[in-house]
Amino acid sequence: MTCKGVTARYSRITVVSGVDLSLHAGELLAVLGANGAGKSSMLGAIAGIVNGGGEIRVRGRSVGRLSTPARAATGIAFVPEQRGNIFATMSVRENIDVGLRLLPPGERELQREFILELFPILKQRDQAMAGVLSGGEQQMLAIGLALGRNPDVLILDEPSQGLAPAVFDILEHAFDILKRKGLALLLAEQNVPFAARVADRYIIMSYGSVVQTGGREDLENPEELADAFMGAG
Ligand code: ATP
Repeated sequence: MTCKGVTARYSRITVVSGVDLSLHAGELLAVLGANGAGKSSMLGAIAGIVNGGGEIRVRGRSVGRLSTPARAATGIAFVPEQRGNIFATMSVRENIDVGLRLLPPGERELQREFILELFPILKQRDQAMAGVLSGGEQQMLAIGLALGRNPDVLILDEPSQGLAPAVFDILEHAFDILKRKGLALLLAEQNVPFAARVADRYIIMSYGSVVQTGGREDLENPEELADAFMGAG
């Protein structure tokens, strides 16, 4: 996926402008930045759930002008902050069925198997209501739901937020498997140590623009990096 000049706005207020990024199959790009820097808005504009503009290409196809559902059909999946895509009063199985519903019927069982192998706990919790799951289980379900359509690009907004460190290991392992499968992952994170564990590259946003980019080697001192942007808005 390549994005050029991405903007995001609420009503007439532009909160993100001029963001360029490229994301290759099999890599994870972390979007870092303080509260209010524009990470969520930028991800939302790429996913098509926040108004915005710019050139967004997935596998060479320009998708920036497509509606949200049409954009999802081109291979972009979005996991919102606070696992906002899951249905609390439906079971784990029903939630996964919702994710799978737009896949051709013949491909659904294979994709279900893949999701349940990625997060085996979801198999054990098959009949549990999503609302009673732990935060970590809910995050796994949110990712599982988003994977239902077998996307090429998976966008996650603060997946580590509020989770126990034990869940970080599970997410790190899952991201590795997804990268090996060829997905491109884009995630916003405020938890820089977690981002440092999973990211191949990163960008730092401040006041709606990208102010720094770097590679894995620059993530070796996550605390220093966090100090560099925290408070920068
Ligand atoms: P956080 O981690 O706190 O979500 P962020 O880096 O993701 O921060 P955004 O949530 O994208 O930042 O916020 C960017 C700017 O857009 C902020 O100034 C914020 O106040 C504003 N903003 C966010 N959501 C809305 C909204 N629904 N309506 C109006 N302004 C908004």
